[in-house]
Amino acid sequence: MTASIVDKLLKLKREKKAVILAHNYQRPEIQDFADYVGDSIELCLKAKKEKNAEIIVFAAVDFMAESAAILNPDKKVLLPSPGARCPMAQMLTAEEVKRWKRKYPKAPVVLYVNTLAEAKAECDVCCTSANAVKIVESLDANTVIFGPDNNLAEYVAEKTGKNIIAIPSRGFCPTHLLFQPEEIQVLRMEYPDAVVAVHPECSSEVRVLADFVGSTSQMCRYAKNTEFKRYIIATEVGLLHRLKKENPGKEFIPAYDAVCPNMKLNTLERVYYALKDEKHVVRVPKSTAEKAWKALEKMLAMK
Ligand code: SF4
Repeated sequence: MTASIVDKLLKLKREKKAVILAHNYQRPEIQDFADYVGDSIELCLKAKKEKNAEIIVFAAVDFMAESAAILNPDKKVLLPSPGARCPMAQMLTAEEVKRWKRKYPKAPVVLYVNTLAEAKAECDVCCTSANAVKIVESLDANTVIFGPDNNLAEYVAEKTGKNIIAIPSRGFCPTHLLFQPEEIQVLRMEYPDAVVAVHPECSSEVRVLADFVGSTSQMCRYAKNTEFKRYIIATEVGLLHRLKKENPGKEFIPAYDAVCPNMKLNTLERVYYALKDEKHVVRVPKSTAEKAWKALEKMLAMK
């Protein structure tokens, strides 16, 4: 970390009453500098509690910064790199959601937070990978429209036994698609004492090999609250920085060096320039934001 950028950022942060949020997949130097590190919803909630903050710099991708802007309408939300766009979120348009709603008018629509605001505005309730099963289980319906991740949809169907209509027909995270069962089997042979923790965005062939399936925040809790010495981790490699930092003495092995290039577009320099010039402000049209806010708040109330 370059000392000058860190010093300049610290000064700027104080002057502008800014709070810096970093997703678990961010570069180590951003995680180390941030006020909070976590998953997207944890971070939005942290930001809400920062009553004195006027600016949120959200080091993450588009849909996360949008959610922060929707949940914190009184604050200016900046995305350090405007090119940091989640390809999975782009896979589901609002039009596609409407099309499926017309086809199954009685089925509630649950959308993963990894969607753009315009799609969220069309759903009944949002979910995260941590609470997707609980949210779908709580609905008084046996058929549920769920998007945009087909793997998470399949996981939810397995856990709830409900009829899950996954939309779009092929929605996936390109980063979690990189994990292959063969590589995990090889690592298991190499490290027979290790446990395998897998993100539900991975394929069912990978999930079936896991000792633990969970979101990034759930993986952090799992590592903290269990006594194993070695963990094989199947999610974006950025999480390993936090896991190692929080669990000295334990070993974390990436199941594959899976990098989300969009998350990694953010750098400490970009965080600095975004805050200095107050640029790359995330704006969500009011009518969209109001509808998406309802879906997000409903999820938070059901958490
Ligand atoms: S890891 Fe996957 S879901 Fe997350 S931002 Fe990257 S592409 Fe999107």
